[in-house]
Amino acid sequence: MRILLALSVSVLALVPAGAQKKNPGAGSQPKLAVSIVVDQMRADYLTRFAPLYTGGFKRLVTEGQVFRNAHYTHTPTYTGPGHAVVYTGTDPSNHGIIANDWYDPALGREVYCVEDLEVQPVGSTRDADRRSPKNILSTTWTDELEWASVGAAKVFGFSLKDRGAITAAGHYGDAAFWMDDQQGFVTSSHYASELPQWIRAFNAQHAPASYLKGTWDRLLEPSVYAAFTGPDERPFEGKLRGSAAGSFPYDLATLGAGNPGLIRYTPHGNQILIDVALAAVDAENLGRGTHTDVLALSFSTPDHLGHLMGPRAQELMDVYLRLDRQLGQLFDALDARLGRGAYYVSLTADHGSCDNSNQAALDGFAVQNWSGKDLDAQFGALISGLDLNVPGILHVGNDQIHLKSTDDDDWERVRDALMKHPAVRMAWTADEIRNGCDPKAEMRRNAFDARSGQVFYELASGHMDYGTDGCTHGSGHAYDTHVPVVFMGPGIPANSQRWERVHPRDIAPTWSMLLGIALPSSATGDPLPLK
Ligand SMILES: [Zn+2]
Repeated sequence: MRILLALSVSVLALVPAGAQKKNPGAGSQPKLAVSIVVDQMRADYLTRFAPLYTGGFKRLVTEGQVFRNAHYTHTPTYTGPGHAVVYTGTDPSNHGIIANDWYDPALGREVYCVEDLEVQPVGSTRDADRRSPKNILSTTWTDELEWASVGAAKVFGFSLKDRGAITAAGHYGDAAFWMDDQQGFVTSSHYASELPQWIRAFNAQHAPASYLKGTWDRLLEPSVYAAFTGPDERPFEGKLRGSAAGSFPYDLATLGAGNPGLIRYTPHGNQILIDVALAAVDAENLGRGTHTDVLALSFSTPDHLGHLMGPRAQELMDVYLRLDRQLGQLFDALDARLGRGAYYVSLTADHGSCDNSNQAALDGFAVQNWSGKDLDAQFGALISGLDLNVPGILHVGNDQIHLKSTDDDDWERVRDALMKHPAVRMAWTADEIRNGCDPKAEMRRNAFDARSGQVFYELASGHMDYGTDGCTHGSGHAYDTHVPVVFMGPGIPANSQRWERVHPRDIAPTWSMLLGIALPSSATGDPLPLK
């Protein structure tokens, strides 16, 4: 790495100053790579509230390059697969995280994307913290940085969700930390045999419950929110647990008593991540070594609250306005510690989200909300009415069905039966997924492998497979695939917006180019045109 650095500096001396500015990554290595994923951040959240942003989102737009038309190219669009795309630079069929949970026919059970029964929880005693990256079948760009620096680079991933942190820290990162609602930030024996002292000190002083004090009210005047989203309380917005009213202000001390997990649904869920990130920067001296270090953050609160209340809720708008200020706090702190322009930042999301279909129907859009339980029963009835050579269903999940039959005539009969259901736009057999030219079949193929089912389906656009309130994601429709992609840092054009179609799988190759390291082992994306 030192040899590379010396070479790039001597080449740089020959490059005119103007060209240096347009050639990110050609100069000295940045001190720090800050990789931000906002869970469930739709691309329009960056533009919709833009007039109200004053902090980190504003800085990313005014000092960075924004790719306005970035789309995932796989389905299902969930957290695990999306994060793994961001860090491996390829689709789920290559990186192996084909969903959050999938049915493994060889094991005859569901597997969670970052489960690992061979590791032990560290800082926790919960089986649910036996987690590792072993199911990720590619290196990540953070792994490649570790290899390139012979382990000298420090790589830390933080999230409230295990899968948001582990996909970032990869196989060789120093640590992934995720939040246990009671204990604070924990990890597993894949990364460490015990929690570092600074994390123990952080947990002692910043327990999740300790954030739940006072009231949560709107950051700005209520009229501002009404102008951007409509009324505070309206049908099909879920309510915070224990809250009868479903409107501001929220008494967090009362609602949070005995329920520290409430933090996940409030702006404090993002604040605790900023706080632990800055504690890591100080304790681990991030950005002060001879190699580029990595601070990878995945903000889970926007997903938790989005699921509960949907994309039109004033509460969700407030979380984004406050996340803007919180990211501003992070950047200001990094400026003070490392110097302005001493680090690169990327921003993206793991998926978008739909609108609540019940609310859309009230607005006159002919869509419907389907509960997963009802859909399963209705699909089961359609399939049980068929005269199959080998009847029987092994599993239904991720919009795919594992059948007992290996007879492709049976698969076609099931496909045709599903297409009679009013919610289903299209269904395919596994053979059609392997060979089909339909763009939606191709998206399925991008998350298809030997563990996948035999018949696949997709609900029509705007139809939601979820509870009555809130919203979800998972489809290949634009509202689930469209996410922000932004890069900011030395040499990257400021205040620049590009509208060509790009993909989150391009983010890892872009980091590889910026840092002068190898591509992740399965990368298929291309570096973004930062110019
Ligand atoms: Zn989600």
